[in-house]
Amino acid sequence: RSGNGGKVRGFFQGGSTRVLDELGARIPEGVRALLAVPGLGPRTLGRLYRELGVTSAADLRRVLESGAAARLPGFGERKARQLLEALEQVERQGDRIPLGYALPVAEALAAELEKLPGVERVAVAGDLRRGRETVAGVELVAAAEDAEGVADAVAALPPVEEVLARDPAKVSVRVEGGLRVELRIVPPDAFVPALHHATGSAAHIARLRQRARQLGLEVDERGIYRRSADGGAEEFLPVPDEAALYRHLGLGYIPPELREDRGEIEAAERGRLPRLVETADLRGDLHVHSRWSDGAASIREMAEAARARGYRYLAICDHSRSLRVAHGLEIEDLRAQWREIEELNRHYAEAGIPFRILRGAEVDILKDGGLDYPDEILAELDIVVASVHSHLRLDRAAMTERLLAAMENPHVDVIGHPTGRRLGIRDAYEVDLDAVIEAASRSGTVLEINASPERLDLGEEAARKAAERGVMLCIDTDAHAPGQLAQVVLGVTVARRAWLEPAHILNALDLPDLEAWLRLPKGERARRGPGSVGKSGDSPPPGR
Ligand SMILES: [Zn+2]
Ligand SMILES: [Zn+2]
Repeated sequence: RSGNGGKVRGFFQGGSTRVLDELGARIPEGVRALLAVPGLGPRTLGRLYRELGVTSAADLRRVLESGAAARLPGFGERKARQLLEALEQVERQGDRIPLGYALPVAEALAAELEKLPGVERVAVAGDLRRGRETVAGVELVAAAEDAEGVADAVAALPPVEEVLARDPAKVSVRVEGGLRVELRIVPPDAFVPALHHATGSAAHIARLRQRARQLGLEVDERGIYRRSADGGAEEFLPVPDEAALYRHLGLGYIPPELREDRGEIEAAERGRLPRLVETADLRGDLHVHSRWSDGAASIREMAEAARARGYRYLAICDHSRSLRVAHGLEIEDLRAQWREIEELNRHYAEAGIPFRILRGAEVDILKDGGLDYPDEILAELDIVVASVHSHLRLDRAAMTERLLAAMENPHVDVIGHPTGRRLGIRDAYEVDLDAVIEAASRSGTVLEINASPERLDLGEEAARKAAERGVMLCIDTDAHAPGQLAQVVLGVTVARRAWLEPAHILNALDLPDLEAWLRLPKGERARRGPGSVGKSGDSPPPGR
């Protein structure tokens, strides 16, 4: 790390900043974007631009592949090869980074910023605060009187590798891992409007401005205000928090995940905003793995981690026998696993601990839509999550048929990661998602929102559509280690962007309600739809 200190200080002494300024002044805007390629700093980029005329990613690829870059003095084959690999990686990601990778980086940097003297508050803004599934970069807003002092200090913070641009109230840096972070520093009394503005989306903000004008008000990053009759003085209204800003516009508070101009302003006008699901609404996780298949921990360790989160239940869903790469369980392994689960549950019951481990399995959906265990075995499980892990290149009709056949099985409770996508790695398999949603609704099958950072599957659009068609969803982490249970927040974010309430989410049910629901035949689950368990039974509705 110490090697970077000199490089960073160099920027502030005007060394590389000049290169950047020169780049900014004389070449197309797009060139700065090449700084996103890890290992390509302003100096190198400046040389490639001046000496080889590189102004685009395509140019960069050309000079790296042709050897022209490698022939520059002090450059070399090795560096050219590394840059080419880095460029390819950036291009694969389409310059966007999955939420689950950006969020911890942003939070770590925010925590470092908060420790700087004079910094009163720091918050994540932009796409990341709205919970988009991938982000181009991170935006942070900090409140401090001395913006210059804070901007100076940022460069020396541990995760910061390089300062890309800087003006008095704004610093752009690249942190470890290549993520770009833009930090705005505003006076403390301007923090709330600045954060609101930087959160966006642009479409949401534009609608708010329009609405403000109809009320004789103006909204911008400085706040919400009224102009005097002669158009001169501005009278700012108090904005202690974002709720106040919406109140001035006659609207209920709109959570960041809804700020996309997808009907939230109309809903806020009529007092019809959803009561979005929160992490605290969840009572358990219905899809985790243990060391019995490819997990890293014992059932007991997973259960204790679930209890530490305040959960009431945990479904152990290890892989089924066909998935050899993940050490899928043979039937006799499954029976042995049930004995271990029973023993642990007996221990909890005797100790008066209100917690239960459910016998589950993540059963492979075979190529023809059959399941990887016979029905007699599936019938003995508390919960069956059925997933596609093989034959991912079937054509659309065959893949759709395969999933529909699995949903027709009376023992299949949940379809795991229904589209198979891996963010930045692999697209969803070809499937008619509308047909899957219809079939889930008809058959009473739950669709999973898999919260694994590289999946987020279902995504927000499909999840919203599913809920509108009366499909129940669940938010599972697919955790393979105790620490991964915390990734549930990513799945909750997807659910919130899909406008989901606790009543849409199976694992927002308390244990007795969940058990009652799992005892219902699927046809009955389909008939009742989401949110009906408590209403028709003896217990209160979920999440209230
Ligand atoms: Zn899986
Ligand atoms: Zn899994």
